[in-house]
Amino acid sequence: MGFALNCTCGRSFDVQAGQAGSTLKCQCGAEVQVPSVSKLREMAGKAAYEVGVIDQINGMIDRGELPAGGVCAVSGSKTEDVMEILVKTEKFQGARDFRAYAILGLLFSPIVFLLSPSMMVSRAQHPEGSGRDTWVRTPLFVDSKYQQKVRRASQKKLKRWLRSVPVYAKLLDEYPQATVEFESGS
Ligand SMILES: [Zn+2]
Repeated sequence: MGFALNCTCGRSFDVQAGQAGSTLKCQCGAEVQVPSVSKLREMAGKAAYEVGVIDQINGMIDRGELPAGGVCAVSGSKTEDVMEILVKTEKFQGARDFRAYAILGLLFSPIVFLLSPSMMVSRAQHPEGSGRDTWVRTPLFVDSKYQQKVRRASQKKLKRWLRSVPVYAKLLDEYPQATVEFESGS
């Protein structure tokens, strides 16, 4: 999704979330600092709540910052083996503020009501959305010799291992009903 950013000369840039924090060179010669994603969203008139922990995780995966740590979540020893783990969150949990907003819009403002279908479309196109559940990729370093053990582990243990990565702990705090699953069905 793009954000409009203006140079002091009046030229407008279309910047992507991934450019947050970078510096652009305008044709006028000025340097334009791209603010943080939350600031960009604020500027675009979107509430900061949309920059939740799920966006944070997706951004970290995009930037190659996850999986993090380089040590096996089970044994604590160094490993390069990664397990693709998914955390399934109930979609309505993440969208509750939006729903409240839409309901308020229905009640109080025909303009907001008219805007909300397009917001819903953009949410529906979001790749993490699937039905009413949202799947969050949470790749984790797990030594290959422990991966079978992890696949058979209880939810409680899985969540404890995931919590070794701070941003996953934040996700699990935000979605206490989330369930941990694996990319392939085995
Ligand atoms: Zn300029």
